[in-house]
Amino acid sequence: MNRLNGKIALITGGASGIGLASAQRLIDEGAFVFIAGRRQDVLDNAAEALGSSAQGVQADVTKPEDLDRVFETIQKEKGHLDVLVANAGVGEFASLGQITEEHYDYIFDINVKGTLFTVQKALPLMTNGGSIILTGSTVGSMGTPAMSIYSASKAAVRNLARSWAHDLRGTGIRVNVMSPGPTKTDKLIELLPSDALSEMKRSVPLERLGDPQETAGAVAFLASDDSSFMTGSEVFVDGGYAQV
Ligand code: NAD
Repeated sequence: MNRLNGKIALITGGASGIGLASAQRLIDEGAFVFIAGRRQDVLDNAAEALGSSAQGVQADVTKPEDLDRVFETIQKEKGHLDVLVANAGVGEFASLGQITEEHYDYIFDINVKGTLFTVQKALPLMTNGGSIILTGSTVGSMGTPAMSIYSASKAAVRNLARSWAHDLRGTGIRVNVMSPGPTKTDKLIELLPSDALSEMKRSVPLERLGDPQETAGAVAFLASDDSSFMTGSEVFVDGGYAQV
């Protein structure tokens, strides 16, 4: 499929997991993709693996000056941006009673503040027909033991898209959320012990974890004109986990 031919995209957290699979898929569909991430070595390896239609830009999404550098680079190299995937995100466990200020700041700074300023700073480069995709999570609509802060951060992301769909009236720019259920990335496997992973698989109606290729398919759909009448929406890619 070439439905993203000539499109310019940026994916934050694009050097691993769901972001990297999305980068590959957007490239396969014809886009040029900038990937932003914190670690230069990981970014370099990912950009090399993605090939000549990708470029890495080192950036921590919590640092406004890093985001400015990303958009200056895109402006200089390509002049505009068609697709923004604000995907950088982190999770860690803490039960009520154990939640520290550091835990809260860490999660909300990256997942909420990082998403907010990534989108806001991208807007001057985006034009009519542009598509913004925020990575949410099924946990944004569920209660999750020992994950209240992460879950609340993803609920915030989901609501940002609803409100921004209003704020973007008249621009022709759409904003939607792609919410994965449990998806087989190194990060998820690192976070959860194997018995918790097995339990999670049992809770998913399709009885397995998702593959990053499957979330990438939804990102490509939301990036393309196939979703041209969608804004403010949430697309779940969760094997039914949060749907039943
Ligand atoms: P991942 O750790 O591979 O991806 C997250 C990426 O974000 C990494 O490349 C990381 O380096 C980057 N990142 C983190 N903090 C950053 C910062 N301050 N600045 C720039 N980049 C930063 O894990 P993943 O599973 O691919 O997660 C990707 C997204 O999907 C996250 O938003 C996560 O919350 C969400 N998600 C994942 C799952 C899952 O089961 N894997 C489920 C629901 C939602």
